[in-house]
Amino acid sequence: MAPVTTPAVVLQAWRYSETSKIVRLATRDLGVQSAIAKGALRPRSRFGAGLEWLSEGVAHLYHRESRDLQVLGAFDLIDLRRGLARDVARCAGAAAIAEIVLRMAPAAPLPGAYDALTTGLTSLVTAPAADVDAAALRAAWCVLGALGFEPSLARCARDGTPLEPDPARSVPFSIAEGGVLCPRCAAARGVIRLPPTAYRDLRALVDPAHPLPTLDAAHAAAHRRLIARFVRHHYGEAGALHALDFWTRRSWDAAS
Ligand SMILES: [Zn+2]
Repeated sequence: MAPVTTPAVVLQAWRYSETSKIVRLATRDLGVQSAIAKGALRPRSRFGAGLEWLSEGVAHLYHRESRDLQVLGAFDLIDLRRGLARDVARCAGAAAIAEIVLRMAPAAPLPGAYDALTTGLTSLVTAPAADVDAAALRAAWCVLGALGFEPSLARCARDGTPLEPDPARSVPFSIAEGGVLCPRCAAARGVIRLPPTAYRDLRALVDPAHPLPTLDAAHAAAHRRLIARFVRHHYGEAGALHALDFWTRRSWDAAS
């Protein structure tokens, strides 16, 4: 059986035996896949040091649809993304984005989500410190959008009515409906109100063509909470989302 070669990012990696690792990969061509890397922990392993958390490479996968655990034949490292470890904000944002992919992406080709993931991770490495939160929020929304969960911000999420919200007033937003609501639909239960600034910044965040908005600590925290609620609702399972929780609660910079 010839291996499938596909660009891949290591979403999780853990020791499986004395010499092997199990990895969960976001692959461009096969979606999220679990694989065993036999011999990866041997001193002169052909995997070298490439199978690290969030490193990117080309995976050579012996892939069979019928099995849950694939066999990783090789991983040609492209980028270790060491820069993510520069500070906790970058690391926490990257972990949350990786978790969204891990939990919400299928085992099916996902070129759009894969590209959003790698673009987002790169932006987290390169962003100036003041832009890290905004970069992480954009990356998370872009990944969600590529997975089919793009929030509706210009039309009512329920009935499609085009909206031109009054820039001085808050905008009704429904997590369950997946976006903003027209005045007629906004009477429903469970509708939250985005302050005008939050709405404007959200529109900028979801659109990579738009310059990143400048978010102070309190606004960044509010945007993190919004996306966490959005993910929780659309993930639809009670499973733990530890990285997302950590990223959401990260509040030491807002406290002082
Ligand atoms: Zn409506």
